[in-house]
Amino acid sequence: MKKIPIFDLDKQYANLKNEIDPVVLRVFETSAYINGADCDLFEKNFAKYCETDYALGIASGTSALSLSIEALGVSEGDEVICPSHTFAATAEAIVHNKAIPVFVDIEESTYNIDPAKVEKAITNRTKAIIVVHLYGQPANMDAIMKIAKRYKLKVIEDAAQAHGATYKGKKVGSIGDIACFSFFPAKNLGCAGDGGGVTTNNKKIYEKVKSLKDHGRVSKYVHKEIGYGERLDNLQAAILNVKLPHLDEWNRRRNEIASIYTSKLHPNFKPPQVSPNAVSSFYVYTIRHQDRDRIIEELQKQGISAGIYYPLPLHKQVAFRVYKKGRLPVTEKIAKEIFSIPVYPELDNAQIQHIIDTLNGIIAQ
Ligand SMILES: *Cc1c(COP(=O)(O)O)cnc(C)c1O
Repeated sequence: MKKIPIFDLDKQYANLKNEIDPVVLRVFETSAYINGADCDLFEKNFAKYCETDYALGIASGTSALSLSIEALGVSEGDEVICPSHTFAATAEAIVHNKAIPVFVDIEESTYNIDPAKVEKAITNRTKAIIVVHLYGQPANMDAIMKIAKRYKLKVIEDAAQAHGATYKGKKVGSIGDIACFSFFPAKNLGCAGDGGGVTTNNKKIYEKVKSLKDHGRVSKYVHKEIGYGERLDNLQAAILNVKLPHLDEWNRRRNEIASIYTSKLHPNFKPPQVSPNAVSSFYVYTIRHQDRDRIIEELQKQGISAGIYYPLPLHKQVAFRVYKKGRLPVTEKIAKEIFSIPVYPELDNAQIQHIIDTLNGIIAQ
């Protein structure tokens, strides 16, 4: 059997070529590169999709996080609570705003931030909480929103892996004060380079991010504040407009593949547990085993790629060590055992069966 990569963007493009090629050509033929009609349309489409009042295209998921934190009024010396078990950008965005990331542990069942530990980490300097819907699995938003309300904290959803996931029937991205998405090519909804976005129901926050991402402008030559050049390209927006209508079907297929894995993989792999009131977007399908490194090596030999999201938690990274405040036992334990296998919608049934047989075979040895 041909090698199975962890993501297969070649296959995705082959399936969409007839739709993507003409819009890319049109962007070139009209030289509509910055702030074009495709951007406006995408913002409208994405807000509708996320069931929010507003959406904005941003240059990347990382800048979406940085601008969101600034728009919420977080500033120098403020503390922002976030998980350590996430991609670096979640905490980088806090530091970019001269604020302090306060890392807290996760729930072993969902790998998402543990609300009980969030509450324990609150001080009089805490301004906001960043929840990450990791692997596409929505975090426990009821508990988080309750805590935020009690302590008057802002909530940012890092939904970079969770486009289209739902929590109690609500789309992720519509629950906190603001949400950040990444359209990095391999994400559930990806463009052809870097791209990101925010969603919110708060008009003031929307207007602030809209200003910040485009040089603090109120009109072409008038700048009312110091902003940034962090707009989403019109070309990327045009591609996202083509892909967005496919997202629900892709997520449905990801869920279908996930349930096949969960029913057929040996239970020693500890399948992911989706909360009964949530629907995951399964950005990746993450399992656990104490023999993780040997298993990945063996998979690789047999032509199957696996990934580790993430092998070294942020509080143990050189870049973030100064913010470490003690151990995070669940995060540290699972980081040594987790690995993710292909779950993208383009996988065919023979590939899925091959992955299952190979994995079950490896631990039977
Ligand atoms: C991908 C990702 C980001 C950053 O997005 P970019 O578009 O790559 O800047 C942030 N947070 C999480 C959890 C991510 O997976």
